[in-house]
Amino acid sequence: MTTGTITGVNGNLISVAFEGAVALNEIGYAILPASGGAEELRLMCEIVRIRGRVADMQVFEDTAGLHAGCAVEFTGQLLSVELGPGLLTQVFDGLQNPLPKLAERFGFFLQRGKYVQALPRDRKWTFTPVAMPGDAVRAGDTLGTVPEGIFKHRIMVPFAMQGRFTVKSVAAAGDYGVDDAIAVVADESGAETKVTMVQRWPVKIPISCFEERLRPEKTMTTQIRTIDTFFPVGLGGTYCIPGPFGAGKTVLQQTTSRYAQVDVVIYAACGERAGEVVEMLREFPELEDPRTGRSLMDRTIIICNTSSMPVAAREASVYTAATLAAYYRQMGLDVLLLADSTSRWAQALRELSGRLEEIPGEEAFPAYLESVVASFYERAGRVRLRDGSFGSVTIGGAVSPAGGNFDEPVTQATIKVVGAFHGLSRARSDARRYPAIDPLDSWSKYPGVCDPALVAEARSVLRRGNDVNQMMKVVGEEGTSLPDFVLYLKSELIDAAYLQQNSFDAVDGACNEERQRHVFDVLCGILRANMSFADRDAARAFFQRLTQTMRDWNGTPWKSAAFDEGEKKVLDLVSSVRA
Ligand code: ADP
Ligand code: MG
Repeated sequence: MTTGTITGVNGNLISVAFEGAVALNEIGYAILPASGGAEELRLMCEIVRIRGRVADMQVFEDTAGLHAGCAVEFTGQLLSVELGPGLLTQVFDGLQNPLPKLAERFGFFLQRGKYVQALPRDRKWTFTPVAMPGDAVRAGDTLGTVPEGIFKHRIMVPFAMQGRFTVKSVAAAGDYGVDDAIAVVADESGAETKVTMVQRWPVKIPISCFEERLRPEKTMTTQIRTIDTFFPVGLGGTYCIPGPFGAGKTVLQQTTSRYAQVDVVIYAACGERAGEVVEMLREFPELEDPRTGRSLMDRTIIICNTSSMPVAAREASVYTAATLAAYYRQMGLDVLLLADSTSRWAQALRELSGRLEEIPGEEAFPAYLESVVASFYERAGRVRLRDGSFGSVTIGGAVSPAGGNFDEPVTQATIKVVGAFHGLSRARSDARRYPAIDPLDSWSKYPGVCDPALVAEARSVLRRGNDVNQMMKVVGEEGTSLPDFVLYLKSELIDAAYLQQNSFDAVDGACNEERQRHVFDVLCGILRANMSFADRDAARAFFQRLTQTMRDWNGTPWKSAAFDEGEKKVLDLVSSVRA
């Protein structure tokens, strides 16, 4: 074991003189000796730079008490997480310590130097063998399954096992703990390895035990109309939600967690104020999964870091989240990773870079910010696995730029790499036009659920309607022609009756793909209709009625008699003003 001695402490950064070999991102423990009745503490830290015989390490804990001369033990391991059944439903910190367990054992607050195994050891899982003795297998191939929540959790050949193996034996169907051997495999030289249900994987290295990476050509429907129709997210794609404080980023991500057509949700709450995270932890388990009627937590993992936790653990949390996401993808599942917010994560990078006295880039963010942001979003992707099944990781990141100014390094670095941009507008959230996704500024490169030609038409109405509105602010309504005024009213109709959607409404909160196509067709028919009005007041009165009728229609359950009735009311109303 390589050991070292602390030569300097600067915030959560320590310099360690060492003898022997160490690697970048290797984990060590700084040892704070017992004193004054307090027991010895072992504080986890990670090598972030090596200069000759000195390693600079970030400590994942408060460094109070650490001083020059304290010993450091290196582990030879990179920062890793445990993968196996029992991850779903859990709440972890950025280092994968289960938070409720920690709270139980050590009181509500995390104490320094306490690390807990991520997977429950007392639990038994009902194992069903899949592989047979004699089978040829490689890393990522399935040996058996256990039920976890509503899925079959695949127990696989550990991803770190390089080369080809032959299955020697597989455990019989039955109940096992995660540390029990469920198979024995032999490599080409005949050397045997016991495989358990748990494996470790270094968080900063992508998992790539698949056959082929695919382009994100399918839509990941969210049941949010603005997104699926106008600014869709690709299954296995990436998107960002930049927006000022209070514009609705968190509500949007929670709604998406609930209604997106994915199997597993990984929610990384990084560095937002402690109060917000506590609220999120309280609310999340209460969210009902529309698919099962049970708690949404059954297919969710939360990684949480508040701004009161050490900054280094925050830096690690997005990688931990990405690793857990890729693990479930490897089981042929669709996974949605939501990060709220990536700005806090970038601030952690900035703090670290500052302590390392690196040459700063824009706004003191490290010069490599863009490549770090890009490498995070590159962890997304839809893949074909070796058994022919498909899995995906879709990544959505909230960005919270100060003052809502998108012209800052984190937003800009993110825009360069993502496939869809859902810009939240302060003006819209102030007007309570939710979701506050700006229909003029936002964009997507992915295919959506509606006919692209119709979408282009509707967007053109939105754009031209906005132009008329801007003009009216200067010249007043009187200076606007009746056809222009009607165009403006049509753009407002799209907004009020289609873009706006109340997340908290039992029916309107989720609008499935089929319903979106149906309603959007009707809406586009209205946009194309040639209408005749006596004057602006008549037009305004008509659109007010139509908007209300369409909103009522949005509130009727899909495929119900009320839905058909609502549609008829809308169509009748429009017929009454056709030219
Ligand atoms: P942010 O995370 O951007 O700071 P939040 O998501 O916490 O903002 O939203 C702030 C408030 O705005 C919420 O508490 C809620 O009252 C309101 N809100 C946001 N989005 C919606 C929505 N889609 N439907 C209804 N209300 C919303
Ligand atoms: Mg928020």
